[in-house]
Amino acid sequence: MAIFVFADQQHGSFKKAALETLFFASQMAARQQQEVVAVVMGEIDQPQALADLGKYGARRVLHVNAGWLNDFDAQLYARVFKEILTQHEADLCVLPHDFNGRALAPYLAAQWQAGLLTGITSLPDEHGCYQKQVFSGKATAWIRLLPKRQVLTLLPNTFTPTGKEGQAKVEQWQPAQVNAAQRRIRVKEVQTTQGRVPLTEASIIVSGGRGLKGPENWGMIEQLAEVLGAATACSRPVADAGWRPHHEHVGQTGLTVRPNLYIAIGISGAIQHLAGVNGSKYIVVINKDPEAPFFQAADYGIVGDAFEVVPRLIEAIKKYKGIS
Ligand SMILES: Cc1cc2nc3c(=O)[nH]c(=O)nc-3n(C[C@H](O)[C@H](O)[C@H](O)COP(=O)(O)OP(=O)(O)OC[C@H]3O[C@@H](n4cnc5c(N)ncnc54)[C@H](O)[C@@H]3O)c2cc1C
Repeated sequence: MAIFVFADQQHGSFKKAALETLFFASQMAARQQQEVVAVVMGEIDQPQALADLGKYGARRVLHVNAGWLNDFDAQLYARVFKEILTQHEADLCVLPHDFNGRALAPYLAAQWQAGLLTGITSLPDEHGCYQKQVFSGKATAWIRLLPKRQVLTLLPNTFTPTGKEGQAKVEQWQPAQVNAAQRRIRVKEVQTTQGRVPLTEASIIVSGGRGLKGPENWGMIEQLAEVLGAATACSRPVADAGWRPHHEHVGQTGLTVRPNLYIAIGISGAIQHLAGVNGSKYIVVINKDPEAPFFQAADYGIVGDAFEVVPRLIEAIKKYKGIS
């Protein structure tokens, strides 16, 4: 029996969350003496990258090498995936809990008639229960899926892959029941941002709130992010006001992030914001109000005016890193 993993890629480069998911599945497989099969959709520039998935725990790679699968389409991918799982009489499929994984998982579970558990943060315990954050991250639930067939999604930044030696066996796989004509979405244009770490994959995030007063003050946030090699994020009112793009909004109604370091600047720490960030390893809060609720969730806090603290922090980091 095998565990199937959606190894999401773009132009031959595998997403960090996909590699983490493969690693997670390999930990599960080792316990249960199973093998991990990575499923890769769409054409790929560097075929060696497929075999290299072995370093993250894949024993085999099924490559659906079709140009009509180059652009992500949740419904179409779900059909192809279902065909693979059915043909291989699989029971378990794991996806990253990122944009694509979150879109694909429910379609797949419905089509394959499987149980679905999203956003897990642990390997199964001895009862087959997985941990998952609930009530906006205020509590942890242990949940066991009863159906035999299961689709799981793994929260990014939960498992850190440790590089292994090994190459996966790569097999080409063509669907018999799904074809290009079934695509319902046509991608007209793809806009990619250069040199930015995707928020869900970032290990450091610098985030700003309404305390920054306006979009014209985001220069120091960007600068701090640049010296730290971090991604930028924001609270919801900031995105709602159009100060920052909506894809930077974290929290209950935005993205859930789990970086190693989350620096919150001028953010009060409302429960809806914390829901998206309290899985961070370390939280640093900069706020001029010592009573701001965010301090209760912080590992380190600086009570002070962001307009004084942040420029001094940037200077100190530059000095430490020897950046002029
Ligand atoms: C259903 C629902 C869903 C929601 N979902 C989300 C969500 O997903 N994400 C989210 O973020 N919010 C969400 N919210 C909104 C949330 O409740 C808060 O209103 C919001 O998070 C507050 O944003 P803020 O901290 O940036 O602004 P504010 O609450 O206005 O806080 C600004 C903070 O900046 C500090 N400050 C001011 N000036 C300075 C300065 N010069 N230097 C340092 N600090 C300063 C203040 O002391 C204050 O603590 C949701 C609300 C609802 C009802």
